[in-house]
Amino acid sequence: MAHIVVLGAGLGGAIMAYEMKALTGPGDRVTVVNKGATYSFVPSNPWVAVGWRSKEQVEVDLSGAMERRGITLRTEGAGRVHPAENRIDLLDGSTVEYDYLIIATGPELAFDEIDGLGPGANTQSICLTDHAVQAKAAFDDLVKNPGPVVVGAVQGASCFGPAYEFTLILETALRRAKVRDRVPMTFVTSEPYIGHMGLDGVGDTKGILEHELRERHISWITNARVQSVEPGTMHVEEVNADGTTRQMHDLPFSFSMLLPAFRGVAAVRDIEGLTNPRGFILVDRYQRNPAFPNVFAIGVGVAIPPIGRTPVPVGVPKTGFMIESMVTATAANIASLIRGEEPREVASWNAVCLADFGDGGVAFVAQPQIPPRNANWSSSGRWVHAAKIGFEKYFLHKIRTGKPDSFYERAAFRLLRVDKLKSTHTE
Ligand code: FAD
Repeated sequence: MAHIVVLGAGLGGAIMAYEMKALTGPGDRVTVVNKGATYSFVPSNPWVAVGWRSKEQVEVDLSGAMERRGITLRTEGAGRVHPAENRIDLLDGSTVEYDYLIIATGPELAFDEIDGLGPGANTQSICLTDHAVQAKAAFDDLVKNPGPVVVGAVQGASCFGPAYEFTLILETALRRAKVRDRVPMTFVTSEPYIGHMGLDGVGDTKGILEHELRERHISWITNARVQSVEPGTMHVEEVNADGTTRQMHDLPFSFSMLLPAFRGVAAVRDIEGLTNPRGFILVDRYQRNPAFPNVFAIGVGVAIPPIGRTPVPVGVPKTGFMIESMVTATAANIASLIRGEEPREVASWNAVCLADFGDGGVAFVAQPQIPPRNANWSSSGRWVHAAKIGFEKYFLHKIRTGKPDSFYERAAFRLLRVDKLKSTHTE
């Protein structure tokens, strides 16, 4: 009779709870601990920030779906995990004990690492749906009073797809508002070249994304380290390959959105054996923490080392289908342990990304993530916009119903031809 606790109910955690519940016996219990009862589909946030989606369209109240599946939802949020004692202290002072813990708490957004960065200071964010709602108000001001735009991703960021995606969505939205001619745009990135994506490029992402930026008159600065942001001006150091300063830029802006670096959330940070120095959870090939073998982790909170050295640090992205493969492997491995067997399921950790531009987009598949690869494919076209809508419908349907398979899943995978890529393998 095992009690399995999933900590965090975002893109990974919500699906984790459903898949885990489906593999447990009648006496086993699954509890989800989240901050609140609302699920937000993070990949739709760039659309929210330009008004193409409302907050309500991308959020789901989890209470009904969890209850229907027989999963207990605790909405108090975790204050601290105590892995040596199999216990979580919740923020209201109560505690939850577990036999198995799956950490799915996603990222903490490290805006505080750069002076003046973030929605509490001088730049916008799309990382949370509430941030995207705030960015929409700033976008409306930009349309009323057009001026320069600076968009991109800072040093240590790992999420480059959404930075390109938002830049090109914003460009499309400004064109539709007929003010693009009064908005000079600059893309600022810590990547060593356009299209690196934290993966040393995938297929021809360098060529495709440079082409897109050039076609749309968006200039760029790579190897960029954002020093500080004042209201209306960003101070950026551009570095050489050896890390020395190449040029300093003082970039004026009327609107700016920069993806921050991520770190692990406070509830799990600085626990010897559980996390790396940035607070990401250490896992083996079975998604299991080596120091605490009844603790597993999935999603953005998992520690993955960067791919090689770059003049400015960049991290490796963790995308939706990769997270799903971690979920499926984790559910199977915990089910094995409950049966008294050893874990044997290994997630594929392929990077699959759809970056929508509103009127087109770029897709890539990197299998495995670290080059050289068996699949190293990228493509662009209008079909990516349609596929991204399919991806959104697929995930939201899955979260609302708790059903692992759906029409949208089959349609999205057929379109993307990724049925094999999200899978796991048994050793
Ligand atoms: P999250 O979805 O962030 O979920 C974490 C959950 O943990 C949240 O519900 C949070 O409230 C909860 N939590 C945090 N701390 C606590 C605590 N102390 N106690 C309890 N609960 C807690 N990937 C793609 O494949 N395609 C895309 O198009 C795409 N677009 C993206 C766009 C943006 C703007 C961003 C930031 C990422 C995007 N990603 C995309 C990457 C990735 O798929 C998402 O970041 C995804 O949401 C990560 O899932 P997760 O479950 O790890 O974390």
